[in-house]
Amino acid sequence: MTGPFGTEQQAREAAHLVVAPEPGWSILRAEGNRELLTRALAGAGVETGVYDERILAWLAGFTDATCAVVAGWISRAAGNRCRRCGRPAPDGNDWCAACEDENAAQALEVLREAASGEPGGAL
Ligand SMILES: [Zn+2]
Repeated sequence: MTGPFGTEQQAREAAHLVVAPEPGWSILRAEGNRELLTRALAGAGVETGVYDERILAWLAGFTDATCAVVAGWISRAAGNRCRRCGRPAPDGNDWCAACEDENAAQALEVLREAASGEPGGAL
């Protein structure tokens, strides 16, 4: 979810990239809207309680374009997040610094194993 959105149609199209409408529908119904908002919250690392869930259900009754705007606010406020752990990540990066280091260490281990011909071998 992104934005900012200039029109209702832009917001609706962005919503449908995240949650596709049911067959035969051109808009999301309440269940799809709720999924859209839930994904935005999860992607931002936001934990929800019972009352939050009640409000989500209420909000999901509005149009998909309206829910897309709210989901866009959540995702834009959260900024870019790590695909693995959900912590903040530099803009344009899929990983946070810690996961990037872990990825590099794993890649180095694979190279070491390949070079030595055995698991855990030296380069
Ligand atoms: Zn991470």
